[in-house]
Amino acid sequence: MIDTNRLINLFLELVAIDSESGDEREICDFLKQYLSQFTKDIQEDNAGASFGGNAGNIIARIKGNAPAPRILLNAHMDVIAPAKGVKPVRDGDIIRSDGSTTLGADDKAGIACILEALNAIRGHSLPHGDLLVIFTVSEEIHLKGAHALDPKHLDADFGFTLDSTGVAGDIITSSPSHDTIAARVFGRAAHAGMEPEKGTNAIWVASRAIARMKLGRIDSETTANIGIIKGGRATNIVPDQVEVTGEARSRNLEKLDAQIAHMKECLETTAAQLGATVKVGVQREYMAYKHSEQIPVIQHAVAAAASLGLEPHFISSGGGSDANVFNERGLPTAPMGAAMQNPHRLDEFLNVNDLAGAARFTLALVHAK
Ligand code: ZN
Ligand code: CA
Repeated sequence: MIDTNRLINLFLELVAIDSESGDEREICDFLKQYLSQFTKDIQEDNAGASFGGNAGNIIARIKGNAPAPRILLNAHMDVIAPAKGVKPVRDGDIIRSDGSTTLGADDKAGIACILEALNAIRGHSLPHGDLLVIFTVSEEIHLKGAHALDPKHLDADFGFTLDSTGVAGDIITSSPSHDTIAARVFGRAAHAGMEPEKGTNAIWVASRAIARMKLGRIDSETTANIGIIKGGRATNIVPDQVEVTGEARSRNLEKLDAQIAHMKECLETTAAQLGATVKVGVQREYMAYKHSEQIPVIQHAVAAAASLGLEPHFISSGGGSDANVFNERGLPTAPMGAAMQNPHRLDEFLNVNDLAGAARFTLALVHAK
């Protein structure tokens, strides 16, 4: 019932629309127009206004015609830069970019699967329950769109986020909590040649602190990284300021808190020992979830997989998605494999057979039998 050609053409049309995070106006208008063939109940909120974006989240409702759970289908409209003027290249079953941009299968593969499932439902008059479709903005910037969404819109029994690597039948059952840690180390500036002893080198202090940190893979459910260092003005000035930004993630909140406390302690103790000062800020970007295989959202996905003769695979993810926010707000939501490969890279690609499989799986999730 999935029309593979229509699905692929829709995907190609979507990736050709520029939509880097915060610049979702054009794709938002395209999607509202596309959804209008299925329902009149389409809203756009003002999420973008709260963080300088030019579009809001789309919330669309399609009334059910059969007794079935109320299901949320979710994907995000923004893509990872560089993604202006994406030129998709078809190479047999593979679609990739020309190498100068990301492809944007993250997450336009998810959007295409959802829209094609709706096409199939309507075209074949299939039975389904109430459907809630939410396309968010700026997911790639710490889930800003989902965070800005009014929770009153989340009135469904459970939801599926089409935004993950993997294929049909891949069901994400857990995801970590994620903290950002941002520190500013203050030393004292001095001329590096004439009076270096009067200075305190903030870069040296920061590097000593970082050298003490446990980073990388901490354990099976915890990771940590220092990702950005910015500071210094000239080689002949002892630098008086440096910014150090990093993150930690864990599927176990106590371990996350312990790791962040450890990173903070490294910075503070080292600064104090070496005559510098430091200001450390910590921001919780999103909360972990861990779904039991017995709860309705997972059971529903397992049944959908079985209806297609697929073996379900339960996956613990190291990444976050809009599902983290919806779960935190009380709507049980699980991400599904959406065919994208190498997301966030210039060699991002997908296989059209995987895309068709993910669309068939999306349809199976909403097709009431
Ligand atoms: Zn994504
Ligand atoms: Ca992503």
